[in-house]
Amino acid sequence: MGSLNKLRLLHQVRKNQWLKPSELEELQNRKLRAMVKHAYENTEFYHRKFRDAEIRPDDIKTTEDLYKIPFTTKEELRQNSLGSMLAKGIDLNKCHVTETSGSTGIPTKVVYDSYANDFSKAVNLRSHIENGLKLRSKWVVFGDPNHFQKPQWFQKLRIFSPNQISVFDSVDEQISSLRNFNPDVLDGYTSSIRLFAQAVEEKGVEDIKPGVVFGTSELLDKETRKYINSVFNVEMVDHFGCVELNRTAWECSEHMGYHMDVDSVITEFIKDGEGVAANERGQIVYTGLYNYAMPLIRYNIEDIGIPSDEYCACGRSLPLMKVVEGRTDSFMQVPSGRIFSPIIWTTIMRKIPGVGQFKAIQEKKDLIRLLLVKNENFAENTVYQIEHDIKEVMGQDVEVKVEIVDNIPKDKSGKVRSAESRIKINW
Ligand SMILES: [Zn+2]
Repeated sequence: MGSLNKLRLLHQVRKNQWLKPSELEELQNRKLRAMVKHAYENTEFYHRKFRDAEIRPDDIKTTEDLYKIPFTTKEELRQNSLGSMLAKGIDLNKCHVTETSGSTGIPTKVVYDSYANDFSKAVNLRSHIENGLKLRSKWVVFGDPNHFQKPQWFQKLRIFSPNQISVFDSVDEQISSLRNFNPDVLDGYTSSIRLFAQAVEEKGVEDIKPGVVFGTSELLDKETRKYINSVFNVEMVDHFGCVELNRTAWECSEHMGYHMDVDSVITEFIKDGEGVAANERGQIVYTGLYNYAMPLIRYNIEDIGIPSDEYCACGRSLPLMKVVEGRTDSFMQVPSGRIFSPIIWTTIMRKIPGVGQFKAIQEKKDLIRLLLVKNENFAENTVYQIEHDIKEVMGQDVEVKVEIVDNIPKDKSGKVRSAESRIKINW
């Protein structure tokens, strides 16, 4: 695809956000019909799925018809060969191939053709530009080196060119590589930016003063947001998405929720097989509208979100959703059936002297392993107090095992998470 076409795509998606809601809806339905037809005619997987459900592409005319199509699960992606998911005639050498982090299982390959890759970049740039990224901003992205891409022609000219920093580097390495660079924009995994902010504050680094900070993939909690905002004196902007569909929603400077990228993905919020009402929690189910190499239709991402019926004060017609703090696999469920959001961890642990970094891992419904990095206030009764305070919140029938460690291991994607559950939650 020509370079001018890439800029044209960017121009187009920037225009889409100001379309009338009815025009956006029409655009979405048109893209949906084309994708459904394509997936049925060109992929083994969806051909079979549609046939098994006794539906034809013509049965799907608008998003209202989506309920007729059975969900696609992560398990199906793992169990079916990549070939059966891909459209006929796809040349993998010409595609961008990436992998999910597989925090709950085996990673799966995700394939974008070059058009899809360009489109997803355009959608990604849209929210960055709308929040202050400039043509030649000094832009730093903390990310997983496995997902880094080679710079494109315009990026070699230092236009919209992110400086990629590995989240596997120590904060000292990160700081030293950014010294004298004076980044305008920090971007990337929220947990990495938090650790980076902490180091910047502790070491009194003065030459790192970004004007904009973007978080992505994992808004941990309000406290993290506040902390990052205070260190850099900004109002951080959060992004929402996943490896399979890329960015799917984003905040604008009004912070009224997350604008959904409805021109590139359909987001449904499902409970007990049906869409939820506004302001209710539902499982997020995505239908991608631009990746013809590997269609994903009604793909259950195993994450939770909340649709909103509010209009944003900014005037953009991209509808709003709200996110639930933390990822689904950071939520824990105890024998009583009660579900705890990952927010509880900072709340519980912040009050206990002696706690440096930590990570809570739920191994079984009634067993929490708590990895702890001591700080200078660690005392004989610290461990006892941790056990006591966790049980008080989660229940006396939950066993707590504290393990003292030197550092908290990052997960496969390089994220540092304070909570992780290895059990299946019954929502
Ligand atoms: Zn807005």
